[in-house]
Order: sequence, then structure tokens, then C-alpha cells
Amino acid sequence: MKCMKCGKTAYKSLTSEAIELGFGLLVIRNIPCYKCEECDEIFYTGDVVSRIEGMIEEAKQRMQEISVIYYEDAA
Ligand SMILES: [Zn+2]
Repeated sequence: MKCMKCGKTAYKSLTSEAIELGFGLLVIRNIPCYKCEECDEIFYTGDVVSRIEGMIEEAKQRMQEISVIYYEDAA
């Protein structure tokens, strides 16, 4: 995987995202990603992006002020 920003090598890593939902905050931990060794830019594969989108939709329905989800635990 090449970095889309600087073209250097990006290696597999794990990261966390905090997503503002308006009424609250969704935190997703242990998300598989690629991280650039040069500029620290983080990329997700298409599968991961669509799964994160699904998690955001679920969190919107739960309407909790703060939700913390672990990526590999989520259905
Ligand atoms: Zn880079």
C-alpha cells in the first residue's frame, strides 16, 4: 500500500477514530488501517470504510452521548 499523500510505503496498523454525531460522540477503537511511514497519514480500505459507516448509522439510532465501540467486537 502506498501513501496517497506522499507516495511512500504505508504499513498495517491500528488506530482509533472519534466521530462527532451532533448529539454525541462515537469512538471506534482498534480500527485496522494503513499508516504512512513518512508523513503518518492514515488510510482505510474500502471494506473498513463501509463498516465504519455502518457503525455510525447504528450509533445514530442509539442516541447515546458517548459510545465507544471496538472494531473487532462489532457485528
Ligand atoms: Zn505519506
